[in-house]
Amino acid sequence: MKQITMTHGAGGTVMNSLNKNYVLKHLGGSSAEVPLEALDDAAVIGDIVLKSDSHAVKPIFFPGGDIGRLAVAGTVNDIAVLGAEPTGLSCGFILEEGLLMDELERILVSMSKACREADVYIVTGDTKVVEKGALGGCVINTSGIGIRNEALEKNIAEVKKRRVFDAQWILDSNLREGDKIIVSGTMGDHGLAVLSSQEGYDFGSHITSDVAPLNKLIMHLLHIGGIVAMKDPTRGGLSNTLNELSEKSKVGILAHEEKIPMRGDVKAACEMLGLDPLEVGNEGKVVVGVIPQKAEEILAALKETEEGKKAQIVGETTKEFSQVVLKTTVGGKRILAPPIGDPIPRIC
Ligand code: MG
Repeated sequence: MKQITMTHGAGGTVMNSLNKNYVLKHLGGSSAEVPLEALDDAAVIGDIVLKSDSHAVKPIFFPGGDIGRLAVAGTVNDIAVLGAEPTGLSCGFILEEGLLMDELERILVSMSKACREADVYIVTGDTKVVEKGALGGCVINTSGIGIRNEALEKNIAEVKKRRVFDAQWILDSNLREGDKIIVSGTMGDHGLAVLSSQEGYDFGSHITSDVAPLNKLIMHLLHIGGIVAMKDPTRGGLSNTLNELSEKSKVGILAHEEKIPMRGDVKAACEMLGLDPLEVGNEGKVVVGVIPQKAEEILAALKETEEGKKAQIVGETTKEFSQVVLKTTVGGKRILAPPIGDPIPRIC
């Protein structure tokens, strides 16, 4: 009998086939504007963006963050990358018997801080308790809604000055030939920070998670305009994100390895452990597809911010091939295949 494995939750090709062959088979079929079948970061029903995300990171506290901050930022970011303004969250706690009350309070304080940063608040929720077991303390589900806003309209107007654009939202399928791909900062920090606390690794330097709500940054970029597609490169990392964008938009992407921002210690730790840093998840970064005429302006705006100061244009879309191709630092080219799954388990 087939069974669920950890890879089914790791955000790569195995999770994708679970979604397509089982989840969509039974739960698809709505008439939503952006339905479940789009497998985008969030759905659109009428003019409301809706997202749900369960957080099962292990351990629940890690360098630079914790499960509470992750639960707020994860859902806020998935709503924001569709171009929507997140307006409210729900929060479902599943607490494990034995969780220390002090730890729960630390998580709540952290969630409250993240909500204030995002200026998005928890307005409804639920709490359940289960017997001591495999949760590692708790699991938190957050759902949220987002609405259309002036920044999204301005952004779309900027795109329409230069090309035909029929989409109402910023979707994975909106890239066209010649668009530029921007990455907002260093790749792999979150996954390596979580791995260090899972395994007790000492990388000889302090790698901390980038987990953060990005809705204000994204609204700022939308005001400048020219953005057509956006994703947060979480499980499966940049590699998975670029492959999803390429597949859904039916364009190839040429990525330049030397341009991809990465901390030296993250690169060194990945080399030591045999991990591909491009497959490692992030929680406070965004990948932005921009029309070529606005790419430099978006990049400059990112670089002026604290979160985006390491941003780079890392690639462009092409019709010359249909996959994601990485131009390596030594000048060769290789296909960047979609990962089977993030190499680090339970990072979010
Ligand atoms: Mg996402």
